[in-house]
Amino acid sequence: MNSYQLQELIKNIQSMMRCPSCGASYTENQIHFLGQLDMAALIQLDCQSCGLPVMATIVVSDKNQVQAPKLMSDISTEEMRDVKNHDPVSSDHIVDVHSFLKDFDGNFEQAFK
Ligand SMILES: [Zn+2]
Repeated sequence: MNSYQLQELIKNIQSMMRCPSCGASYTENQIHFLGQLDMAALIQLDCQSCGLPVMATIVVSDKNQVQAPKLMSDISTEEMRDVKNHDPVSSDHIVDVHSFLKDFDGNFEQAFK
């Protein structure tokens, strides 16, 4: 993904995504691009209103079209708040997510069973 695509991706996220907890929209500063694996971009969103951190994977097609983002987790708001009180994102966690994405077949429902 080049910087133009990344800009477009961030714009798309801003227009498509709202905080699942309070419904606030995100500004560019709250959208963090963590990395990319194949066609999936790993994004962290920090809510300005309630502070809920959300991880999302977004599949970017080669025609530069962004598909609907998928939230990484179905954990509860309470658990999210709990996570927020710990260290931000450790490098160990990033590795875990990457290996998760590598083996991931796109079926989120299955992945979290
Ligand atoms: Zn929020």
